[in-house]
Amino acid sequence: MDKKCAHPSCSCNAEPGKEFCSDNCRNVKSPSAGKCGCGHSGCQADKDS
Ligand SMILES: [Zn+2]
Ligand SMILES: [Zn+2]
Repeated sequence: MDKKCAHPSCSCNAEPGKEFCSDNCRNVKSPSAGKCGCGHSGCQADKDS
């Protein structure tokens, strides 16, 4: 089963066995700020201009 990235704004799937889709999401300082910065195409958080 796919698991969503633990970042609240990120719509990507987390890497297998991990909480986040990328180090960017894991290291983000303030998840409530919006963008996760994962850089994945199709990520909901990155669509916001
Ligand atoms: Zn993302
Ligand atoms: Zn993510």
